Amino acid sequence: MQRRAASLAADRLSDAAGRSSADSGTVQWAATMERALHARDQIGVEDFVLLEDYRSQEAFVDNLRKRFNADLIYTYIGPVLVSVNPYKELGIYGENHVKEYKGEAYYELPPHIYAVINGALTSLVEETRDQCILISGEEHELRAPAGRICSSTRAELVAIRGALEMLLRLEGGLAESPVIVCADSQAALATLASESGSGKTEASKKILQYIGEVCSRTGAEVRSVRDRLIQSNPVLEAFGNARTVRNDNSSRFGKYMDVEFNFMGEPTGGHIRNYLLEKSRVVSQAPGECNFHVFHLLLAGASDELLKELCLERDPKAFNYTKQSGHERDGMNDADQYHTVVNSMDIVGFGSGEQRDVQAIVAAILHLGNVHFQDVDGVSCSVDNAETTQRLAKVLGIPADSMQRALTHRTIEAQADVVTTTLGVEQSVYARDALSKAVYDRLFTWLVRRLNMSLASHDQGTRHSLLGILDIYGFEVFKSNSFEQFCINYCNEKLQQVFIELTLKSEQEEYLAEGIAWVPVEYFNNKIICDMIEMKHTGIVSLLDEECLRPGEANDMTFLNKMTQALRSHAHFEFRLKHYAGDVTYNVKTFMDKNNDLLYRDLKDAMAKSSNKIVQDIFPASELQGKKMPETVSTQFKKSLDQLMTILMSKEPSYVRCIKPNDVKQSHKLDTEVVSHQVKYLGLMENLRVRRAGFAFRRPFEPFLRRYKSLCPDTWPRYDGPARAGVHTLMKHLGFGDDDYSMGKTKVFIRLPKTIFEVEDRFQAR
Ligand code: ADP
Ligand code: MG
Repeated sequence: MQRRAASLAADRLSDAAGRSSADSGTVQWAATMERALHARDQIGVEDFVLLEDYRSQEAFVDNLRKRFNADLIYTYIGPVLVSVNPYKELGIYGENHVKEYKGEAYYELPPHIYAVINGALTSLVEETRDQCILISGEEHELRAPAGRICSSTRAELVAIRGALEMLLRLEGGLAESPVIVCADSQAALATLASESGSGKTEASKKILQYIGEVCSRTGAEVRSVRDRLIQSNPVLEAFGNARTVRNDNSSRFGKYMDVEFNFMGEPTGGHIRNYLLEKSRVVSQAPGECNFHVFHLLLAGASDELLKELCLERDPKAFNYTKQSGHERDGMNDADQYHTVVNSMDIVGFGSGEQRDVQAIVAAILHLGNVHFQDVDGVSCSVDNAETTQRLAKVLGIPADSMQRALTHRTIEAQADVVTTTLGVEQSVYARDALSKAVYDRLFTWLVRRLNMSLASHDQGTRHSLLGILDIYGFEVFKSNSFEQFCINYCNEKLQQVFIELTLKSEQEEYLAEGIAWVPVEYFNNKIICDMIEMKHTGIVSLLDEECLRPGEANDMTFLNKMTQALRSHAHFEFRLKHYAGDVTYNVKTFMDKNNDLLYRDLKDAMAKSSNKIVQDIFPASELQGKKMPETVSTQFKKSLDQLMTILMSKEPSYVRCIKPNDVKQSHKLDTEVVSHQVKYLGLMENLRVRRAGFAFRRPFEPFLRRYKSLCPDTWPRYDGPARAGVHTLMKHLGFGDDDYSMGKTKVFIRLPKTIFEVEDRFQAR
């Protein structure tokens, strides 16, 4: 077993010592303390709780660097695992490592993602407590990427500045300086493309892989569930991931996956939930970025017959939606990847008819992107290249003239009247792209539903425990922040709320159990921000929805004005939101449009006529009958987040916080600026502060006394009374003041790591 020299976290040590038999506990403890002393200067501490200067971000980053340089990418903050992307294979995920961590108490071995999943699985099996592992990282942008221009009309700037200045006056100088942010939707789109590559998705895959390995010797049924769980990933990634500037395989959606286990800890099924796919990528990509993998895989990997059937050319340059950048990725071949995905679909249980329908939809979107319009008279237009609409219509099994008409007309039902108007070129382009996005988005949701069907547990009778894995976009702070960042940061705000509540709760529980006075920890309670976003009537989501209900009258600026009025008295609103992680300034431009997410009914009508079974399914005729306004994007998102929070709160959480070491996907390079920024926006210093607010170090009385009794004449060579009294005597003799430590029922709690290291120094020197 690997017992590398490193300083183990104090409470982990204590538990280790506490659990082992008397002698071996002492021996083990001696060894680990020695390692701790000798190693902490070179390779840092394994738990940030042991950092002397726990308030200093420099010390924090310095500790990360020491470890990173020694290829130690994992470090704990108490129960939280911090992970730095090494951008190279470390050889620490093999079958032997799975075996090593399996069943081993997590303080026994160096920090590892396997320790986290093993801990969760142990608790799941032994205590039948549902678990969840929350993986997050932060997406950021420190430098303005070249060629990105923030532009806005002068009138807008003046209006924004006016609103801002008013707010700033109202806030009585809360803000240090007015911030004017300008952006158009193009810039917002471009910035959204910079995803972190911090290792979130890899972490979630390592977890699944671990689950797969530990149950590899069990029966055929379990193996089949395991295979389907694991094979669902290539399918999701083909459709939900894309090559971006920062990450060749960047996930463009949020994912929560529940794995079901039976009482033996074997997986019996699963369920996936998806959040906010970045569908704008279907129609346009930032410079140097690509569309979702699947478009490229299909073109590269499909047989000639299939391509012919789908009326496709092999060259991605032939399609507007894929011609922007080459799709080269390190060590990846699109054609091979295509076959991998088809194979995964087979294993997961997609029928050949279904697969063909999926391929037809992907092809149809490529054709759709090539439809051009020709102006007729300024207010109407016609399709310029009819052969493209014909291909599109053929592939989807829709009459070509219906398709053409739907792309160039708009029908509005107002009370009893049905009015059809023509669309100009610009409007038709908008309608076309809206259709592409909607089709793809709905296809993705369909895929998740389909995957869930085949992951559903057949073993309904027995009790299941759940292990949830959340791989979701982190806090996003870009030069220009739009609706997408608003939704994403709202999500993170909620996750932070769960985190704070659960962390403080478990700390409080231990203090209570030990009979130690709980001193409330001051922390930034972000409920106020959550409320401000989600409150009925006056919350930002409500205000936005309200504006979206006034077509024609309302626009992004009226929305901003409303917010200014509604939130005027709010100390936390000043055009920017004071998120837990820091201030973020949002630009309201395009908020309304993105929230409405309108798709003209003519297009839905046309789609409902398709002979493609999946298209029929995702554009049901029933949608056209309902007169009710569909739910807005922010309201839907809010609801799905509420559900997610309920799910998470019912589980015992583990946290993995991912950090990327640099912006250039390089190994052996830790960029202080880049890392510091993430440490800040991930709220890690706050995590550590809360964790350290009480006692850094806790240890059961017996092993503590056993080790240090020789430092005090009253306890050496033996103390006859109860261990608790012995420790008390010892602490007094060692000069600990009343504030430096506290006596619990079974453990001694020591406030500062420094003092315990000093005791250890004396012990070594005696
Ligand atoms: P995220 O999901 O946070 O955007 P990914 O998990 O996709 O990031 O990681 C981006 C890339 O970084 C991966 O494709 C892989 O090459 C590399 N990477 C991430 N985590 C690890 C790891 N633990 N070991 C080796 N390489 C990693
Ligand atoms: Mg990812």
